Parts: sequence; structure tokens; C-alpha cells
Amino acid sequence: MPVETSSDPDAVKEDAALALLWTVVHAPDGRLPFCRRCEAHRTFHRISRRRAYACDSCGAHVYPASSTPFAGSPVPLAAWLDTAVIVLDSPGKTRPNRVAGALGIDYRRAWRMTRRVDEIVQAGGEDAELLRRLAGLWKRHGHNQPDRVPDPGSPEDRIRVAACRIMAQRGIEATRIADIAREAGVSNASIHYYFQSKDEALLAAFRWAGDQLHATLQRLLDGNVTTLEHLRHLLDLSIPGDQGTFEEYLLWLEVWSRVRRHPAFLDECVRMSRRWADAVLGVFRAGVADGTFAPVAPITEVCERYVAISESLAVRSALGYSDMSEHAARRLLARFTAEQLGLPAGRLDP
Ligand SMILES: [Zn+2]
Repeated sequence: MPVETSSDPDAVKEDAALALLWTVVHAPDGRLPFCRRCEAHRTFHRISRRRAYACDSCGAHVYPASSTPFAGSPVPLAAWLDTAVIVLDSPGKTRPNRVAGALGIDYRRAWRMTRRVDEIVQAGGEDAELLRRLAGLWKRHGHNQPDRVPDPGSPEDRIRVAACRIMAQRGIEATRIADIAREAGVSNASIHYYFQSKDEALLAAFRWAGDQLHATLQRLLDGNVTTLEHLRHLLDLSIPGDQGTFEEYLLWLEVWSRVRRHPAFLDECVRMSRRWADAVLGVFRAGVADGTFAPVAPITEVCERYVAISESLAVRSALGYSDMSEHAARRLLARFTAEQLGLPAGRLDP
């Protein structure tokens, strides 16, 4: 079956990534690939619409990505290779921003991908070596030229992102304006231009983090998946896990500690809680409408319960309670949610 040629630049790039993987992993130095079923070197052809090649003699399928650290990832191979090039080329904290700009994805996803590549490189061994080879060839073949012009964002955006990261790491007391300025790559003066005080910067960072979380959830819910998958996304985001959600919860704690003295913080907390609860309610209602959920109480009440329980578990887990690991929090929340929505126990277990 011939492979259809595509004029979509993303598809072309993805084909190039697969072809590179195939050559490096299965047909190095121009040798014929080895077919395990034939137990001999054979010629292979690409199977259209799959990330696979087939043996011309016996038809056995081989998925080049399955022997790489990116096996099973829904992220395009080309995006992984782009990320690997950036990570290997530019040590330092700016990498997620560069990955986000080059791939046109949000910071959270970019951070996750950067971390994954970093883990592989740090672990060393065959995977790290393979990744270095792939990244080197990917770059040499000129595939890593970003299709999109990286958008470093306005100075104000950069300050928000930087404030979010620094304050989540150190807390607002230990954060100096100069730290935020350095992280954002702007002058102290420009921070003072946008924000009157550290509290104002914290509030802006908090809003920014909340918007990111909301945008992530909305994007997941827009995907063409089942109600149960929507619910899983919701559970996933409800407990701090990767650095993105972790920072957001740490910011929540910073903001909560200021609520009593600053009414603006309370307004923002209420607004963000409300928005989150509305999203939860939307998922629950959809599940009731399509018959997936059989809630044990009126759905608005089940929603309130979910928000209260998940918030408590999330805070304990974020603070590092010894009896509330991320896994324990996720498991408790999954069990509770299944019970509340009339799903079999264990159905939502992480
Ligand atoms: Zn074969």
C-alpha cells in the first residue's frame, strides 16, 4: 500500500520523524532491517496512516517508536524530537518557554515534555544515547526549524509566568522583585511599572495560573472523548501532580494566607473556585444526561462535595502531609467520586 503524500506541513514533518526513527533504530548504516518473524533481513514498506512499517515478505508490522522512550505517547514524534533538540542545546530554566514557543503549546505541556526528555538524558544508558543521536540527526537535517515564530510573550506575560514560578517555589515572603525580574528577563523597573507591590504581582501570577489550569481543562474537555474520560481528566487535574498543577496549588496557599488582610485576594479565590466548580458541574451533568452517572444526591450537591473533598486532599498532598502522598490522594478521590456518581468501586482508580 503506497503511503499517501500529504501537503500538511505537520504531517510531512511527522513522516520525516518516523522515517528517521526507522532508519536509526532498524536500518542503521544502510543495512536492511531484520524481520523477527522471517528471522532474516528483509525490505520493509511504510504502512499508511500508522506509525508502522511492514515486512515485504511476511507482512509483520514494526512500530519504530515502540523501541524508544516515547512509546505509547500521543504526542507527535516530531514534537518530541524538537523538544530533545532544544533541551540538549539549551540547559537552563528557559527551556520550557522555548519548547512552548517552538511547538505552539502551553507552558504546562512544554514543562512536562521538557522534564521527560531531561529524565531520559539524566538516566543515561541506551535511551539517552538514542535520544542524542536522534536529536543530532533531526537538527542536522534541518527539521527542528520551528514552524511558528516563537512568541516570548509581552513583558507583562513573562513577569506573570516568572512571578508564578518563583513565588510558588519560595513563597511570597522570600521572593524579591529582583528574583522575578531575573527569571522574566526584564529590569526591576519594568516590574514596578506593571505591579505596584509584591502582592499585586502575586495576584497577577495567581490569576495567570488559574487561567492556565482552566484552559487546560477546557482543552481536554473539548477533545472527542467519553464522559468517563472527561471525568478522569478532571480527577487528574484536581490533585497536584506535575510541576504545573503543583505550582498552582502552592500559589493557592500563598493567596489563602493573605485573604484575611486583602479583600482583593478573597474575591479572586471565590471567582476561581466558582469557575472550577462550574467546570466540575458541567462534566457531572453531561454524565448524568448520557446515563453514565447515577449520582447519590442532587448533582449540584455532589459537585459541592467533590470540590470540598478534592480541595482538602490537594492541599494536604501539596503541603506534603506524610500520610497523603499524591497517589493516596488520587486513590481516595477516585473512590469517593465513583461512590458519589454511582460508578463501580475501583472504576476510576489511578
Ligand atoms: Zn518478515
